[in-house]
Amino acid sequence: MRATLANPVLAGCQFASLNDAELYAAPTEWCEPDTQMQAGGETEAHVVINDFYQGRGQTYHSGISRPADSRSSCSRLSPYLAWGNVSLRQVYQALLSNWNRPGWRRALSALSSRLHWHCHFVQKFESEADMEFRPVNRGYDNFPYRTGEDSEVDLERWQTGTTGYPLVDACMRCLHDTGYINFRMRAMLVSFVCHQLRIDWQRAAPHLARLFLDFEPGIHYPQMQMQAGVTGTNTIRIYNPVKQSMDQDPQGDFIRQWCPELRDLPTEVIHRPWELTALEKQMYDLDYPEPVVDIKVSSKQAREQLWAWRRRPQVKQESARIVALHVRPDRTRSRRGTQEA
Ligand SMILES: Cc1cc2nc3c(=O)[nH]c(=O)nc-3n(C[C@H](O)[C@H](O)[C@H](O)COP(=O)(O)OP(=O)(O)OC[C@H]3O[C@@H](n4cnc5c(N)ncnc54)[C@H](O)[C@@H]3O)c2cc1C
Repeated sequence: MRATLANPVLAGCQFASLNDAELYAAPTEWCEPDTQMQAGGETEAHVVINDFYQGRGQTYHSGISRPADSRSSCSRLSPYLAWGNVSLRQVYQALLSNWNRPGWRRALSALSSRLHWHCHFVQKFESEADMEFRPVNRGYDNFPYRTGEDSEVDLERWQTGTTGYPLVDACMRCLHDTGYINFRMRAMLVSFVCHQLRIDWQRAAPHLARLFLDFEPGIHYPQMQMQAGVTGTNTIRIYNPVKQSMDQDPQGDFIRQWCPELRDLPTEVIHRPWELTALEKQMYDLDYPEPVVDIKVSSKQAREQLWAWRRRPQVKQESARIVALHVRPDRTRSRRGTQEA
């Protein structure tokens, strides 16, 4: 059944609609709460805030980059903010009321910066909303990404967590099941698809947006472009997925949880399973894909291309425009961290 809404803004738009019988029929799968995802609602948002200040938040800054630890040490407020279950002001007031607690200053300073970034990014998006569809820096409009069938196949491997790079795959599979991964791992996923696979951030953005329980366009699109290195104003970061794996999941616990086919591998090789000999692979009964790309080659190529592009006059001209529009000419920026341009 189709319905046309009376609202003048939406006049003429056709929406599929369900009748009451269909809507309130026996609960279907989508009505069942998914226990792996955060539960929604205002009450739950306050439970999560209280829980943060009751203890888990004290290690906020030390666990923030680790895919496993961050699940409890980070605030986990992003879905509640994105869905409007709690306001940024309420979250900030809670922070201020805990500000002088002994032993919490470092954690709370780091959290405070991020709450400021939230507003900064959302404001930036409001000022230039077409950044959803094109690079905020017009100098990157024709950046030479891969196209064609091969790139489709590689994109699909990234989307399904079968790139052959254990931490990348673990993060993607974790996202599929839980709707959450921490900041650094999001950045690594984007770096991988854009730099190692040379796939346009615009082809990767919708997939992540669909998976994030906290999808917030005001943060998502600026971050996608920052991590893809196409703003001209931010440091270019090409994450090495093997180094990240060894630094952020040294024992491979997170990898073992989300890539069970690697569970039996010794820690020394879990970050680079392709180094096993054919005989060892047989011994471990390993059924895991070979790396989709050689990151030594792809990182070098990406680095050269990104830095050459950044020297283009149009990129520089656009960078100056972006800074003039989005950065306040005072000292706030240096006090609140480095993410603000
Ligand atoms: C490619 C990419 C896409 C992202 N897309 C989203 C998105 O759609 N929605 C979203 O809420 N966050 C997004 N982020 C930012 C960040 O990863 C999440 O806000 C954070 O991981 C949420 O977990 P948390 O609530 O425990 O964060 P905490 O670390 O506890 O931070 C508290 C709050 O501060 C804000 N915040 C934290 N980090 C950032 C940041 N770098 N920039 C702006 N605000 C920040 C969020 O509102 C977050 O809930 C993205 C990051 C990247 C690299």
